[in-house]
Amino acid sequence: MMQHFDLIIIGGGASGLTAAVTAVSMGVKHVLILERLPRTGKKILATGNGRCNLSHADLSALDYQGSYDVTGILQKFGSVIDFFENLGLYCRTDEQGRLYPYSMTANSVLDALRLHCTDATELCNECVISLNPVEDLWQIGTESGKAFTATHVIFAAGGTVQPKFGTDGSAWKLLENLNIPVIPGRPILCPILSDKKRLQSLKGIRVKGSVTLYHKNQACKTETGEIQFTDQTVSGICVFNLISEIHRNLISEYNLSINLFPELSREELLARLYTCQAVRSETDCENMLSGLMQKALARSVLKSCQIKADLSCSLLSYLSLEQIADTCQDFRFPVLGIFSAQAQASAGGVRGDVLDSHLQLKSYPRLYITGEATDVYAPCGGYQLHWAWASGYVAGKYCAERILS
Ligand SMILES: Cc1cc2nc3c(=O)[nH]c(=O)nc-3n(C[C@H](O)[C@H](O)[C@H](O)COP(=O)(O)OP(=O)(O)OC[C@H]3O[C@@H](n4cnc5c(N)ncnc54)[C@H](O)[C@@H]3O)c2cc1C
Repeated sequence: MMQHFDLIIIGGGASGLTAAVTAVSMGVKHVLILERLPRTGKKILATGNGRCNLSHADLSALDYQGSYDVTGILQKFGSVIDFFENLGLYCRTDEQGRLYPYSMTANSVLDALRLHCTDATELCNECVISLNPVEDLWQIGTESGKAFTATHVIFAAGGTVQPKFGTDGSAWKLLENLNIPVIPGRPILCPILSDKKRLQSLKGIRVKGSVTLYHKNQACKTETGEIQFTDQTVSGICVFNLISEIHRNLISEYNLSINLFPELSREELLARLYTCQAVRSETDCENMLSGLMQKALARSVLKSCQIKADLSCSLLSYLSLEQIADTCQDFRFPVLGIFSAQAQASAGGVRGDVLDSHLQLKSYPRLYITGEATDVYAPCGGYQLHWAWASGYVAGKYCAERILS
């Protein structure tokens, strides 16, 4: 006989565990979490470089994109700080407004959630492969051959990137089989692949600046922050936040413009270059620029200007200084692709108009969608996880109210 539960949660990640904690704490007795990996919350441990950037102090509905209006869910969820304090977890905010657990370790976040859902049954190594409505119940089957029924189901199986954390998008087929409209997943929040030859000499450099994504000659979006160069990518949070603007079938038409001195006007930068030239007149161009930037970067800028790094800087004309200034403020890199293997999230998911204000499917009552499986996405900085907590909380709470009524 199939085991029956009031609520089955597919996926023990950020939104699934939040839904479980919420339902259990409201008094729902029979809750089952089905997780395909050997343990729940594996991805949470990897977030924020192991520190878990769990939300952002200045977060609002305007930070989110996609086809579902998140306003109502964020309001219903309320304060993320209160939510976690009720689980005994304190938070702190860094100077950029990013919220972390006070311990600055993601383990504390997972512990807080898991400590409060011990009354739920957790089955790991159980990959859900079927989900069907049968009369008033949901029937769920797993790869290992187990079968369950439930009155309510929360689909919290995440997005389509990072298979090592259990999320490869295969679970979305369960929804597509029910004819639920799902917008195809696409990786976001990842580095941009660029010209390996040029990047070779810049590998390992980190620089503060701004990056503008161009489509042909049209500026699409500018972000400011730390830019990191690897042997094949231009990376950093500010680069991650540009990915959602890129249409993948037009990828060869994009390029990146890095401004190494966004805080200076062209005249101010020229004045500095002029001063460096005067003060370091005895040295070469590379050393002249090293008062403003790392030498490897200086060599690359000079190469782009077709100026020899070992040329005596006193020989530089004003025109050449202008060329250096312009290159520093518009240092171009082609976009050759996006490094989807390192994507932190995916856009796409269940289309917003088929979900109600509690994330329940209008066409399938008692089936809810949370987290990255909804067509909601946001920039780096704690917004993705905030959506996971908020959506999991609202779905869990509404299920609990229905089950207990
Ligand atoms: C390296 C990394 C760092 C990140 N850092 C941050 C950060 O600092 N701040 C931030 O806001 N966001 C961050 N994110 C994004 C954030 O982690 C996700 O957006 C969030 O976890 C999504 O929550 P979710 O509940 O939708 O899905 P997930 O947390 O991905 O959980 C989905 C779960 O479902 C399980 N599952 C999938 N299919 C099945 C199935 N068929 N049967 C059973 N189980 C299944 C998976 O194994 C997984 O455990 C990061 C992501 C990565 C990869």
